[in-house]
Amino acid sequence: MKQLYLKTFFILLTKTTYVLSETIVVMLGTGTPVPDPARAGSSVAVIYNQQAYVFDAGPGMVRNAITASQQKGISALYPTRIEYLFLTHLHSDHILGIPALAATYWWRRSKQLKLYGPTGCQSMINGYYCFLQQDISLRTKGSQPVSNPTMYQLEVEEHDDDQWEFRHGQVSIRPFLVAHGDIEPAFGYRITTPDRVIVISGDTAYFDGMAEHAKGADILIHEVICEAALNRQPQRWQQYFNKTHTSSSQLAKLAKAVNPGLLALTHILHYDEPIKTVLDEVKSGYSGRIVLAEDLDCY
Ligand SMILES: [Zn+2]
Ligand SMILES: [Zn+2]
Repeated sequence: MKQLYLKTFFILLTKTTYVLSETIVVMLGTGTPVPDPARAGSSVAVIYNQQAYVFDAGPGMVRNAITASQQKGISALYPTRIEYLFLTHLHSDHILGIPALAATYWWRRSKQLKLYGPTGCQSMINGYYCFLQQDISLRTKGSQPVSNPTMYQLEVEEHDDDQWEFRHGQVSIRPFLVAHGDIEPAFGYRITTPDRVIVISGDTAYFDGMAEHAKGADILIHEVICEAALNRQPQRWQQYFNKTHTSSSQLAKLAKAVNPGLLALTHILHYDEPIKTVLDEVKSGYSGRIVLAEDLDCY
């Protein structure tokens, strides 16, 4: 009988914890540069208090944001309602969705999109203005009634180091430097809300400091490259990948040191190996809670 009481209490506690957890993570893109019809380019949204904080905007993420807002009831992800975008680095699979996000229905925006990221963001956005020139001119100088003619623009804040912090209400977002080959700086992010700590690795090779950045994470969203696939790559590619991405066994080692509440695998480079091989590889060295993230998964 005592055991039954304990079990009931535990179930109630688990359910209450879930209900109290207001922060939601929505995977808006779990892909890589390798084309995959089921996966948009990198993008993760953290939603707290009806506000979305989006990390990276790979190609296809806007379509997923629309689906999340209109079919999953996460209204904060309606494209014109997204106000805060953070970039890990400027590789194409993390940024090609930016023009789509900034320009989708822009004339109906009431708040400009704000962009935070590494050096190079402003010149990239200047390129987007150039790209959108005809659209802006047609909509603002023609017969279309546009009350906010500057809403296609972004407020850009670029940084060449990780010595900054974003605070908004009870949400704090801190970048940290990661190891992504030639790219400097490349950021990971640690997001703290009143009920959760979420750590996003961005694209990174394994490095010693990562465990410290990810310490105490309720959810660790980490990139990974399949070891079986990596071992079959030509030597030059193996050398490149070793400096830019984290292998399954390295991720298992990291997860063991961090022991996050949940480890979500994303940005999975697996080439001709089935994607599930990566999950098996990580699981062989780590026994904690782990999921292979799919587009539109919510945690
Ligand atoms: Zn990438
Ligand atoms: Zn990258």
